[in-house]
Amino acid sequence: MTNFGQGMMIVLSSPSGAGKTTLTRLLSEKNDNYVISISHTTRTPRHNEIDGKDYFFVKKDQFKELIKKDCFIEHAIVFNNFYGTMKEPVIKDLSKGKNVLFDIDWQGAKQIKKKHIDFKLITLFILPPSTKELKERLHNREKKDDLIIEKRMSQFKNDILHWKDYDYVVINNELSNCYNQIQKIISSESKGLKYNYDEKKIEEKVTELIL
Ligand code: 5GP
Repeated sequence: MTNFGQGMMIVLSSPSGAGKTTLTRLLSEKNDNYVISISHTTRTPRHNEIDGKDYFFVKKDQFKELIKKDCFIEHAIVFNNFYGTMKEPVIKDLSKGKNVLFDIDWQGAKQIKKKHIDFKLITLFILPPSTKELKERLHNREKKDDLIIEKRMSQFKNDILHWKDYDYVVINNELSNCYNQIQKIISSESKGLKYNYDEKKIEEKVTELIL
């Protein structure tokens, strides 16, 4: 049974650089009732990242210990680093009626879906408008580290193939449009209604992006 009236789990996944972190932040800033689930990772922090705010940065053996203790709802290896979502804080927030936002990859989304946790779940996949735009965004973020950019671009096509596993796919053409569409989806779903959108347009966009 789903706990309607209680918090919802809202998963946002996308190829790296498609803008989901910005969208997740925007959703939590504009809605008092939303919180972002802060993941644990073994990745090295980027220059502007803060421990406990962007991620909990931990060593590999600490991460493995948390897996052993069954502390994660989901965990995965992405770009050779461990990432995972802790169970306890998420369940606590949902029980208080908060909507919890998850900025996680397709492996994590799949695991959460499979667990049938007793709260409503919406999964969204965000697409970049074009591969050119995606490369530019990665360039700005990764400080022109060509090796990382190359790695993330090659992962991109693999990530995108998982779009069908999601409830909704949204194209991040323009931030405010994309944000509004996500809000409409969440609002419909919170009333138990499916949000209608143009799936054919999405299929065409995916085909264009993986060519
Ligand atoms: P980044 O290193 O760029 O912050 O994240 C790399 C990828 O890992 C992104 O696709 C992000 O959504 C994903 N990710 C971040 N946290 C988690 C998590 O807790 N679990 C999973 N499965 N993926 C995560």
